Amino acid sequence: MAQSVAAFMEEIIAKNPAEKEFHQAVQEVVESLWPVLEKRPEYRKAKILERICEPERVIMFRVPWIDDRGEVQVNRGFRIEMNSAIGPYKGGLRFHPSVNLGILKFLAFEQVFKNSLTTLPMGGGKGGSDFDPKGKSDNEVMRFCQSFMSELYRHIGPDTDVPAGDIGVGGREIGFMFGQYKRLRNEFTGVLTGKGLNWGGSLIRPEATGYGAVYFAAEMLGTRKETLASKTCLVSGSGNVAQFTTEKILDLGGKVVTLSDSSGYIYDEKGIDRQKLAYVMDLKNIRRGRIKEYAEKYSGAKYTPLDPGMDHNPLWNHKADCAFPSATQNEINAKDAANLLEKGIYVVSEGANMPTTPEGVELFIEKGILYGPGKAANAGGVAVSGLEMSQNSMRLGWSREEVDQKLHGIMKAIHKTCIDAANEFGTPGNYVNGANIGGFLKVADTMLDQGVV
Ligand code: NAP
Repeated sequence: MAQSVAAFMEEIIAKNPAEKEFHQAVQEVVESLWPVLEKRPEYRKAKILERICEPERVIMFRVPWIDDRGEVQVNRGFRIEMNSAIGPYKGGLRFHPSVNLGILKFLAFEQVFKNSLTTLPMGGGKGGSDFDPKGKSDNEVMRFCQSFMSELYRHIGPDTDVPAGDIGVGGREIGFMFGQYKRLRNEFTGVLTGKGLNWGGSLIRPEATGYGAVYFAAEMLGTRKETLASKTCLVSGSGNVAQFTTEKILDLGGKVVTLSDSSGYIYDEKGIDRQKLAYVMDLKNIRRGRIKEYAEKYSGAKYTPLDPGMDHNPLWNHKADCAFPSATQNEINAKDAANLLEKGIYVVSEGANMPTTPEGVELFIEKGILYGPGKAANAGGVAVSGLEMSQNSMRLGWSREEVDQKLHGIMKAIHKTCIDAANEFGTPGNYVNGANIGGFLKVADTMLDQGVV
């Protein structure tokens, strides 16, 4: 066992070269866990940390498909089966041109701790492809999904590995992949979550990640006897998580003034009300348009295109109380974090995975704001995926109210786990340590129980 965090990280970097997002995710967790390992030598002896950083299995495969012009296209598919100590591998599939092994390993690694925090029996996994669904016809997306599943189907199953959606994978893609799985296996099982309601999906699954991130923010505010009512919020992204984050903020009496996509962002000082949100949902989910069109439709809103040459993102430079990053990793750098603090933000609840760089996280913790890291704050999505698996196993469906109530209960339980673990290890109010330690303990103890596997 390495003698320090630095020595441990040296080994990780040497063994996993060019996977910078994976290094970043591991570093944060190992820093939180070091005091735990010092207190619990049995974890060190059993090399729990070394084993938890090594995927149980990595699958990489060719995904050939034919586009609408009859040309052959070739993408790369992945599935990282990270840890199955407490349940079948579980985690989303991401279709985005930026996808590579390091990004999916970081996501699979985070998923292990997140899934453990949900209190449900789910291991950690993640997968996807460098395929870009943007600008593709429905038929092209279908052909790609069928080819992708023609390899993936042999590695997954309702008791083995249960993928879900993530960036670029919504209801349409899950439908095409489920159809192909069913055809190849000749069986109808809960092998994917995020399914349509007619064929095994759960009510509240589409809403779950966004709703959960807002419930988590409300819990954090509750520690200061405050609520979200009348709070102004910055939200990034305009996909699944951003849309339902906005909806739940409206339910709780808050106001959302920003949304974005990878081309730029809109600022609407008057607030994005329900009617405007319905417009965004139609724009993004049906017409598959760009957020720029929002500012063309609503004259009070201002659109700012993304300028990759800038050292900060102006979206994070508006006066507000709360921020809900809901687009992608590393979208808040140190300068953005400083701007947020200067503009009065004191609640950050991460709908996206690892949206804040380590320097930004350090600033939030130093200033003692209510900072909920993704692996706790966005665990609502996978939690309801877990509930979808339960409903599939029982061949029963719960009502909207029942699922929402369970989701709310799970988010409260995650919040409490974070608070308790942070207190126990001497860093009260530090949700990063709380989430990492709280998620780790259950997996580590299970790995001890199950021997060296
Ligand atoms: P989505 O529906 O595909 O939406 C993603 C949004 O983020 C889009 O507005 C997209 O803009 C924007 N975006 C993507 N990559 C970007 C980039 N490199 N730079 C700037 N903007 C970018 O995906 P989602 O499900 O909402 O996921 C958003 C985040 O939440 C991800 O970090 C994901 O891992 C995390 N998450 C999702 C779930 C879930 O249940 N879906 C659960 C837990 C965590 P374009 O339209 O221009 O691409």
